[in-house]
Amino acid sequence: MIGAGVVGMACALRLQRAGHAVTVLDPLAPGNGASFGNAGVFAVGHVLPLGMPGVLARVPHMLLARESPLSIRWSHLPRMLPWLARLVRSSTPARIDAISAALRDLVTDGLDSTRALLGPRHFVDLVRHAGWLFVYSDAAALERDRAGIALRRARGVRIEEIEAGALRQLVPALAPSVRHGFLFPDCGHTVNPHRVVVTLAALLREAGGTIKTATARGFDIGEAGVTRVLTDGDGIATDGVVLAAGADSAALARALGSRVLLESERGYHVTMPDPGIDLRVPLLAVGEKFSITPMEHGIRLGGTAEFSAGDAPPNPRRHAMMVAQARRLLPGISDTGATTWVGRRPSTPDSLPVISGSPHHRNAWFAFGHGHVGLTTAAVTAGWIADLVAGRPPSVDLAPFRVERFS
Ligand SMILES: Cc1cc2nc3c(=O)[nH]c(=O)nc-3n(C[C@H](O)[C@H](O)[C@H](O)COP(=O)(O)OP(=O)(O)OC[C@H]3O[C@@H](n4cnc5c(N)ncnc54)[C@H](O)[C@@H]3O)c2cc1C
Repeated sequence: MIGAGVVGMACALRLQRAGHAVTVLDPLAPGNGASFGNAGVFAVGHVLPLGMPGVLARVPHMLLARESPLSIRWSHLPRMLPWLARLVRSSTPARIDAISAALRDLVTDGLDSTRALLGPRHFVDLVRHAGWLFVYSDAAALERDRAGIALRRARGVRIEEIEAGALRQLVPALAPSVRHGFLFPDCGHTVNPHRVVVTLAALLREAGGTIKTATARGFDIGEAGVTRVLTDGDGIATDGVVLAAGADSAALARALGSRVLLESERGYHVTMPDPGIDLRVPLLAVGEKFSITPMEHGIRLGGTAEFSAGDAPPNPRRHAMMVAQARRLLPGISDTGATTWVGRRPSTPDSLPVISGSPHHRNAWFAFGHGHVGLTTAAVTAGWIADLVAGRPPSVDLAPFRVERFS
């Protein structure tokens, strides 16, 4: 297994339990990539792709607005043109319908699969089932989102419209100007996304698996497929490899003969250890595009999108913007002692991860590109990878997730 993020660790544990002897390689300790600081929401109603026509139409406005959830570092633009072209091609009504159906297959069992993987004791410790409440700072943001709400309902997602009075009962700290909400009652959240991965790592070790500090650099390939993962040291002999290196997966996929379109879609978080308000249900600030999640270490603002080189320095103005916007929704919130972070979502232009066997090597599999829903869908992905490795037909059609769609 290459990569000890939430996806790699979930796949590793599932495969170890299926009787394989699993070794996970990562230069970092488990859960220190994108999985470290996400917003913690099990977004089981996330059935719409990034490239919705309404969103794309607003891109120029968003890029020019002073406080925008979207930013692109212009120096990075030429490199991402093929990705952007594919994003646009993925935005036709027919493609959106197909992608949305595939996303539904992927996200719907997110909570149940996570419970099964973690086991009831760890699940109760780490996950709360309080729903996810979409809130709107103004009427225009609400109106823009109505079509998306209708599409999600059409896909079978349960959504309750919440009027002002009930909204204030759910979240007393909300500003009076926030008058509308939609509650997704089937969603949940973790109180600590990093601890989810650390727990999966502990369960893997208990089940006999191994985690090694090493960077995969390439592969030795023989008649029977991949025989060795090359590292800076001796490398590791193997009879099969799963690539789950998050936003860094493209070069290794290429070494296995598969081209993919994958961008680092950077997201920011601010965690407020002493927020001064009570929040029981995670919120999505819809117009601002970040979640506000109650966690065991305070309240976390997490989200927004920045396309830039993955190793570009973080932009501190984005953290300040998120705090200012959160204050408008929750006027009492305090950022005293807040910590900040930026992480790289592994994002494909069609918003679907690559969950696939390699078309070139019978013992190589791909599990990356989970974009905005890697926490939600890691355990589902693990089940599908276990099916593919066993040569069993998975319960759903995995064609939309195949790596060949990029070739
Ligand atoms: C701000 C923000 C908020 C988010 N909120 C949510 C949310 O609320 N809900 C949700 O479901 N998702 C959310 N996400 C998305 C989610 O965090 C990601 O989809 C998920 O963490 C991806 O997991 P991963 O294991 O694929 O990648 P990562 O966690 O990045 O792990 C990849 C691992 O691979 C390792 N690696 C890289 N190259 C190599 C190599 N050559 N050899 C060995 N190892 C290598 C890296 O060191 C890393 O540890 C959010 C993301 C961000 C940034």
